[in-house]
Amino acid sequence: MNKWSNRLTHHRSAIIDGEDFITSVADALQHISYFHPPDYIQALAEAYRREASPAARDAIGQLLTNSRLCAEGRRPICQDTGIVVVFLSIGMDVRWEASAGVEEMVNEAVRRAYRNPDNLLRASMVADPAGARINTGDNTPAIVHTRLVPGHTVEVKVAAKGGGSEHKAAFATLNPSDDIVSWVLETVPAMGAGWCPPGILGLGIGGTAEKAMLLAKESLLDPIDMHALKARGPRSRLEELRMELHDKVNALGIGAQGLGGLTTVLDVKIRDYPSHAASLPIALIPNCAATRHARFVLDGTGPATLAQPNPADWPNVAWAPTSDARRVNLDAVTRDDVLGWKAGETVMLSGRLLTGRDAAHRRIADLLSRGESLPAGLDFTNRFIYYVGPVDPVRNEVVGPAGPTTATRMDKFTDLMLTRMGLLGMIGKGERGPAALEAIKRAKGISLIAVGGAAYLVSKAIRSARVVAFPDLGMEAIYEFVVENMPVTVAVDAAGRSIHETGPAEWKRRINLRIDDR
Ligand code: SF4
Repeated sequence: MNKWSNRLTHHRSAIIDGEDFITSVADALQHISYFHPPDYIQALAEAYRREASPAARDAIGQLLTNSRLCAEGRRPICQDTGIVVVFLSIGMDVRWEASAGVEEMVNEAVRRAYRNPDNLLRASMVADPAGARINTGDNTPAIVHTRLVPGHTVEVKVAAKGGGSEHKAAFATLNPSDDIVSWVLETVPAMGAGWCPPGILGLGIGGTAEKAMLLAKESLLDPIDMHALKARGPRSRLEELRMELHDKVNALGIGAQGLGGLTTVLDVKIRDYPSHAASLPIALIPNCAATRHARFVLDGTGPATLAQPNPADWPNVAWAPTSDARRVNLDAVTRDDVLGWKAGETVMLSGRLLTGRDAAHRRIADLLSRGESLPAGLDFTNRFIYYVGPVDPVRNEVVGPAGPTTATRMDKFTDLMLTRMGLLGMIGKGERGPAALEAIKRAKGISLIAVGGAAYLVSKAIRSARVVAFPDLGMEAIYEFVVENMPVTVAVDAAGRSIHETGPAEWKRRINLRIDDR
C-alpha cells in the first residue's frame, strides 16, 4: 500500500439519505432567512455602540431592530431573500441513498424552502438572463460548488446571497508588483452604497480568475473575528493585511448605508492560493446587512438541526423615529413642498405610494416608445414611487418584508419618470448617479432612501397593498401601498445635493483628523 491508497485499512463509511440531505438544506435556508448569525449581530451591536454619525447610527439601529423582529416573527431579514449558494465537501467514503443527483437535491431543497407557506421567501432567480429574464418561480437553480475530500461525512455550507451586494463584486488581474491595498481602497468607494453596508468584504487572492472569485465568496462564510484578531495580534501576512484593510476601508468614512460614518465593514476576510508568477488575480465580493449563512455536517445519523440564537444575543435596541422628523402626507404633498427638504433629513411618510422596479420601469419606457398609454388607473402625477419587490404576505400580513432596492438601476428612467410622468420623488437605497442627479435638479424632484436590509421593519409601516399594474411581473408588479409613518431619509434634495457625496466626505475628513491627532 502506498500513501495514496487506503485499500487495506478498515474505515467507516456513511450512508447519507437523500431526504435527510434535502430536509437539512431546506431547514437551513429557512433558518438563515430570519436568523442573523450571532457573530454578525455582535459585530453590528458593537458598531452601533461606537458610531458617532447620527444618520449612520440611526440606520444601524434600524438594522438591529429589524434583525430581532425577524427572529421573533420568523420572517425574512430582507425582501431580497437571496440567491442560494452551497459549498459541499463530500467525504470520499460517503455512499448516497438517493434517486437524484446532488445538485438536483439542493434545488429541491431550495424549492421547498422558498415555497414554505409558514415563511414564504421571494423567488428572485430569472432564466434566460440575456433575453426574456423569466422568473423561475421557486428561486431555483442554486449555485452549487462541490469538492471531494477524505472522510465519511458531508459538510454543507449554505448561503443566501443578496443581489445588491453580489452586484458589486469586482475582479482584477493585478501585476505582481501592484499594491493590493491601493486596489481595494479604489474599488470600495466605486461600489457605492447599494451593497447595504455595514457588511463584510471577502477577498480572494491568487489562483486564476475563477479561483479568486470562489475564494472570495467562500471567505465570506467564515465567522466574523476581527475584534478577536485585533486583540491577539496578527500571526501571518494575511492577518496583517486583513487588519490593515479593515482600518483603511473604515477610514474612507462611507458608513452605514453610505450615509457617512465610522463603520463601513465589520470584517475583511481573505483566502489565498498560489498563482502564476506573471500575475496577481484578486477578487472582492461584499456581503451585505443581510448576512445569511449556516454550516452543518451530515454523518448518516439523520438530518441536521441548527442551534437557534439566544434572545440575549441582540442588544437592547428598539429603533424609534426622532421627534424632530418631518411628517409628510403623501396624498397632499406638492412640488413646492419638497423644495424645502434638505439632504440628510429624516422624513416620515404617510399616505399612498406606488411601487416599481427594473421590469416595471422597462415596460413603461417600452409602452411610451411605442406611443401606447399606461394601463388604466396608473398615474404618476405628483406621486412617489418606491423601488421595491416585496416578499409575498403570510397569515395576516398585508405584505411581506418590503425594503428598498438599489436606486441607481433606475437612474436611466429617472428623467422620463420625473418629466414625462409627473413623478415627484423616488424611494430606494444607495446613491444616485450623475444622470439621475441632473434629472432631479432639473425637475426639482426628490430622491429618498429607506434602510436596505431593514425590510421587515419597513413593512410594519405598510397598512394596505394592492396590485395596480403589470400583475404578470410578480414581485416586480406595480403596487399601491398605503403607508403610515414610513421612515426615510432625503438622499438627494431638489437642488441636486446628495447625502452620499457630502456624508462620506465629511466623515472621511473627521476620521482622518482623529488619526492625525493620535
Ligand atoms: S441587505 Fe441590501 S444588498 Fe443585502 S439582500 Fe437586502 S437589499 Fe440586497
